[in-house]
Amino acid sequence: TLKEKIIKPDEITKYMDGDRDFIDDGAIERTLAQHCDPDPTQVRDILAKSRAVETLTPDETAVLLHVEDPELLEEMRQTAREVKLKVYDNRIVTFAPLYMSNLCVNNCAYCGFRTGNPDAVRRKLSMDEVRRETEALAGEIGHKRLIVVYGEHPETGAEYIADTIRTVYDVEVPVRHGKGCIRRVNINAAPMSIDDLRMLHDVGIGTFQVFQETYHHDTYASLHPADTIKGDYRWRLYCMHRAFEAGVDDVGIGTLFGLYDWRFEVMGLLQHARELEDKFNIGPHTISFPRLEPAGGSPLTRHPRHRVSDEDFRRLVTVLRLAVPYTGLIITARESAELRDEVLVHGCTQTDASTRIGIGAYSETDEDQHEERQQFMLGDTRSLEELIVALAEKGIITSFCTAGYRCGRTGECIMDLLRTGQEGRFCKLNAVLTFREWLDDFASEEARTLCEPVVQQEIAEIRERVPQVYEKFMEHYHRTAAGARDLYF
Ligand code: SF4
Repeated sequence: TLKEKIIKPDEITKYMDGDRDFIDDGAIERTLAQHCDPDPTQVRDILAKSRAVETLTPDETAVLLHVEDPELLEEMRQTAREVKLKVYDNRIVTFAPLYMSNLCVNNCAYCGFRTGNPDAVRRKLSMDEVRRETEALAGEIGHKRLIVVYGEHPETGAEYIADTIRTVYDVEVPVRHGKGCIRRVNINAAPMSIDDLRMLHDVGIGTFQVFQETYHHDTYASLHPADTIKGDYRWRLYCMHRAFEAGVDDVGIGTLFGLYDWRFEVMGLLQHARELEDKFNIGPHTISFPRLEPAGGSPLTRHPRHRVSDEDFRRLVTVLRLAVPYTGLIITARESAELRDEVLVHGCTQTDASTRIGIGAYSETDEDQHEERQQFMLGDTRSLEELIVALAEKGIITSFCTAGYRCGRTGECIMDLLRTGQEGRFCKLNAVLTFREWLDDFASEEARTLCEPVVQQEIAEIRERVPQVYEKFMEHYHRTAAGARDLYF
């Protein structure tokens, strides 16, 4: 069967200790139960550890997950903000999702692309279409970073993925000054074998993202039929181990919140991050926590049993920021504009904008959402420019920097820089240079005026905080403002 052809059992067992995987449901439930009544002194001690940018233990995380006292919750939120500023400064990174295909052999109960959804209009992009989509993203909107998304299907395996990525990287579109192009392609795809991951590594993928969906074994089994590829929990759970072995040292994990208890899922994410740190000395680069949204042909998504309220969502972002301080947190356009703006201040570091998730939707003029062509429905359809201006008005700069990946600041190296708060040095400089590029190449006159104060604020901070590079930085800045492109530190 296809499942037997894809899944290589020895590429699961080689990473396991005996016959158990690293998610112990019983242990997680017990840890959560033990800390259901947190002591304020203990909470404050844990917050001090987060301030020191240390990964929390499961016990400490369980304590924070149970804080109900409004005052303590506010302290947690403020600490999360401090940690975020310390590690990531006041920067937000933006990207666009690009759905390449909705062909899928799996039958996940919550997904509009599942094989059992008769209403889905099936499509995979040809290379010409990939080019047109990329031209719209890089030439009209001004994105520099994509997350490309694929279902799981023999027609869209590693070779198709590699072809699409090469095609994206090849596109150059004339813009006001020079050329628009995508400088980094992250991927969200099915778990793969080590050989397939090597192929993707060789075409230069950025982050390799796979979401476990739910870490709870029984819930996982109930949502993913056992005869499908996705029915194998462990093939999915150990795919990041295989990625590291294949040389992809930049990985993103996530869960779909709403399938099971949100506290359990946060603990699962933490265990996953700690497992990768233990085995490879590198934690995940990013964590994603999409909430279940209504999806075409999926009644389950209309009435989720474990719906996560906005308030619990804010709490889970806060706890993740505190528990894995060095990890990027991604919030997507699934969420409302109001909630996104809020968590971008208190914890999240990356977000998408001008988002369209219909297959081929960026190069079309129809801006409406279509349930039969999308995996789910979006909550925030603001343009990149609208988002950037909203952030700038809060003193937040949008970074289009992709330099770190191109000059070796990835994997273990970036983890060290993040843990010691040094990543900000390079990133602050590159954020200003790439923001200048975007403002001059893509922004309206009005947006440029509204964003100028943030640029000036950042330049003043660079002069104050890193005076030793100020002169060199200003030289790069003036050259960028005069039309030079892709200068970075
Ligand atoms: Fe396929 Fe992914 Fe949807 Fe499952 S969630 S049906 S694997 S596209």
